[in-house]
Amino acid sequence: MALRFYNTLTQQVEPFSALHDNTVRMYTCGPTVYDFAHIGNFRTFVFYDLLRRWLHASGFKLDHVMNITDVEDKIIRNANAAGQSIGEYTAKYTQAFLDDCATLRLERPERLVKATENIPAMTDAIRRLAEAGCTYTSDGSIYYRIAAFPEYGKLSHNDFSGIRAGARVDVDEYDKADARDFVLWKAAKPGEPVWETEIGPGRPGWHIECSAMAMKYLGETLDIHAGGVDLIFPHHENEIAQSEAITHKPFARFWLHSEHLTVESQKMSKSAGNFFTLRELLEQGYAPETIRYALLQVPYRRKLNFTFDGLKAAKASIDRLRSFQLRLDTDKPAEGNNEAVEKRTAEAREQFESSLDNDLNTAEAIAAIFEYIRDANTALDAGEFRAGNVAAARDLLARFDCVAAVLEPSEQKSGLTDEQVQARIEERNGAKKARDFARADRIRAELLEAGIVIEDTREGVRWKRS
Ligand SMILES: [Zn+2]
Repeated sequence: MALRFYNTLTQQVEPFSALHDNTVRMYTCGPTVYDFAHIGNFRTFVFYDLLRRWLHASGFKLDHVMNITDVEDKIIRNANAAGQSIGEYTAKYTQAFLDDCATLRLERPERLVKATENIPAMTDAIRRLAEAGCTYTSDGSIYYRIAAFPEYGKLSHNDFSGIRAGARVDVDEYDKADARDFVLWKAAKPGEPVWETEIGPGRPGWHIECSAMAMKYLGETLDIHAGGVDLIFPHHENEIAQSEAITHKPFARFWLHSEHLTVESQKMSKSAGNFFTLRELLEQGYAPETIRYALLQVPYRRKLNFTFDGLKAAKASIDRLRSFQLRLDTDKPAEGNNEAVEKRTAEAREQFESSLDNDLNTAEAIAAIFEYIRDANTALDAGEFRAGNVAAARDLLARFDCVAAVLEPSEQKSGLTDEQVQARIEERNGAKKARDFARADRIRAELLEAGIVIEDTREGVRWKRS
């Protein structure tokens, strides 16, 4: 079965193809750069990365646009409080966001576009909406009249037919199921940045930003539009209303949404003390790839409960993957090729790929890899896994890692502690006593990789940091 995604618009799992030249035109809603991004934000960004990587691995080319919202109510409030322009203020958090993405091994979209650098595209879209009779002006702000778009509600599957005409909202984020005319262009106010434009002085609303930039860079119909579930209503509903009222064409063919993240089963909030930025977790000593793995392993449409036990388990899983990789590199299997192993490797690869093809089911894809590793280790121990089987096993790990991107260790500020080294050495002594020399050698190789050199002497094992 080919690649397929759950489409929020149709509420169906549908086979995916690109509309033009095998190139996926994809828009994902990016960060509002008013603070450091938190772990809930990064669940969504890791999902975008997974989507990108699997599309690539499936043979598609990508034209992926992500916006940086660098003008918005919270930004203006915080910049004013800091006595900075919004440009100065957002520069810091934009860079922090890009650094965090690199830390988490997120591929850069083909285009990162800033709202403040695309104001003409937004005023042009608003002008066209006005010409189509979808807008009205009140106190210098321009609003979208949702009664002018009968299909309003088709993405969130809400019935808004009973809405009060003319009720309007000035803020960009508002209650679910409370459909109101929303603001496209906010009137100039003292203490706020203002653009002098053909539609008057003011600044853009958040919703028009994404419609205008998506269509400017990717054309009138996108292959994929993605975001977190909290964006379905009102943000994405409003994007559809804006874009389709202008073009009379479907705005996006596939709408993909990632679910919420909770921390230790609680909604993450600063007041509950369970609010974590990526930076805070790194400071606590968690490796970036451990966090990446923890965010990746739960399929994107399932709620993810982020826990510290889960982080430990993620680390153990990565260790297991690396141990197997090391074993492939250092064991010296006998010559030849075992057909049963060959078949098992091909089967695992098929399971891995078909799981990701099935709406990016990472949990099943990862399970396929670990079941394979268990079987391959058994075959290696029994001498059944032969030299001729190594290449396909390596290929499978590489295929896994072109999506997971966790095998390469990050530069660790602090390596193993003395106690951890001692514990590993004792494990190795135990293995030697049990005449499990392969295991003993593996531990030595792992320690070496971690920068620890061990030496067997008459007095026992000596070790040093390399
Ligand atoms: Zn957006």
